[in-house]
Amino acid sequence: MTATTSISFCDTTLRDGQQAAGVAFSVDDAVDIALALDAAGVDQIEAGIPAAGAHGAQTVAAVLQLNLKATVSAWCRCRLEDVDAARAVGAADLHIAVPASDLHIGQLLGIDRKEMLSRAVAVVAYALEHSASVSVGLEDASRADEGFLVDLGGRLSELGVRRFRYADTVGVLEPIGALERLRRLTRQLPAEWEMHAHNDFGLATANTLAALQAGFSWASTTVSGIGERAGNASFAEVAMAARYLCGRTLNLNAAELPALATLVARASGIPVPACAPVVGSRAFAHESGVHVDGTLKASRAYEPYDPADIGVRRRLVLGAQSGRASLRAAAAAFDLDVTEEELVALVEVVRSSAVPGGRSLAGSRSRHQVPAA
Ligand SMILES: [Zn+2]
Repeated sequence: MTATTSISFCDTTLRDGQQAAGVAFSVDDAVDIALALDAAGVDQIEAGIPAAGAHGAQTVAAVLQLNLKATVSAWCRCRLEDVDAARAVGAADLHIAVPASDLHIGQLLGIDRKEMLSRAVAVVAYALEHSASVSVGLEDASRADEGFLVDLGGRLSELGVRRFRYADTVGVLEPIGALERLRRLTRQLPAEWEMHAHNDFGLATANTLAALQAGFSWASTTVSGIGERAGNASFAEVAMAARYLCGRTLNLNAAELPALATLVARASGIPVPACAPVVGSRAFAHESGVHVDGTLKASRAYEPYDPADIGVRRRLVLGAQSGRASLRAAAAAFDLDVTEEELVALVEVVRSSAVPGGRSLAGSRSRHQVPAA
């Protein structure tokens, strides 16, 4: 299968993101997050687990009632009662997670592959009878036997499943090995493939990009990568990398990404790291004299894309590394005329006043934003 040029996103902030330790979204928060995800262009929102009690059911029902452009899916274990719970709240798009590794099948469920296949066929057939669409997640796929994945997926394909999620449940893929492995899978089992990557080794975004290169057309992500343990692939990271590094087309209103990250940080209690790619407060901050001078001459010199693409402006930070270009820009921001001699003196004052340990004196908003080439 050749790599597709367009990709779609299924955001699971309201399901996997909410499974992060200590996170619990109120129904109102979930509604706000769903609206923000829709505004950002996400294609599908995995809104929660209707079978996981009243709160899960209320959340999915509330998101369904928003009539978003995005489709809204409900997550189900491989159980008939989970399918019924999803139907009860009006969900038409179901995702059914099927354990695929021997570790999960044997040690968690206490059954064998044959019994797992039989259960999956029964539940998926039941779901297909009563739902508009059913996608199937192959849980712990990265530690599963490849032959069994193909057998399981092939049988479910015969029932009518068109989309499969490859879950790297404990984040053990590495992107170079994954590329050939996933390419082999998409050839053996043609379908719409979705990557669900966890970030235990910091490779979730890289593994998701590898999957796209291997022919996958869906990415499962969360806002700021929040999720179980070390989290998931970040929506902002994967989306921007897919657009700028892989040349993929996608529904993305990138200017919504910073506000989306801020909203989820407030609702989850997990702050956005300052150095987070794309949406971190330092993602477009410059202090060193060489970089500020270069950025003001040619913004692409030290930035991969124009910060205006995500609706923010670069920050020029005054500190121990500042040079004349920073001071000149800061003076211009306040409409101050400063001579070169004064700039030299100011640089020394700023450098000597900077707090040891790397903290900056202040940030100044650049008024010299250079349009992207
Ligand atoms: Zn997960």
